Order: sequence, then C-alpha cells, then structure tokens
Amino acid sequence: MAENKNYEIKLKYCPNCGESLLKSKSLLNEYWISSDIAYFCWCSDCSWRGEIIEMERVTAPELASQ
Ligand SMILES: [Zn+2]
Repeated sequence: MAENKNYEIKLKYCPNCGESLLKSKSLLNEYWISSDIAYFCWCSDCSWRGEIIEMERVTAPELASQ
C-alpha cells in the first residue's frame, strides 16, 4: 500500500553548473537501489550527466590514526 504523504524531489540543481534540473529539457529520473534512492541527472545547459545516490546507511572503513 502506498504511503500517503507529500512527495518532494530533493535534488533540484545541476551539481556541475547549478542550473535547475527541473527545466523541461533536462532529465531527472529517480529510482531505487535496495533502500537507497538514486537520481540519474542530465543537464541541458552544460550536458553534465551522472548519478547521485542518497544512502540510508554508510559503511566506511575505520580511519587510520595519525
Ligand atoms: Zn549543468
């Protein structure tokens, strides 16, 4: 059953030039990888394209002591 809450697009601007990705010629596609949210972006202004992944949990190696 779908959750009944307001939907918000968190990613709105190109990470390369800062132009809005919500313009009709740009592409912003959201999909899911397990519990993570992935955004595929293509900016019509600077042609940057890539994916940005919002992670629910991050596992990182222990930092080396100095
Ligand atoms: Zn751009």
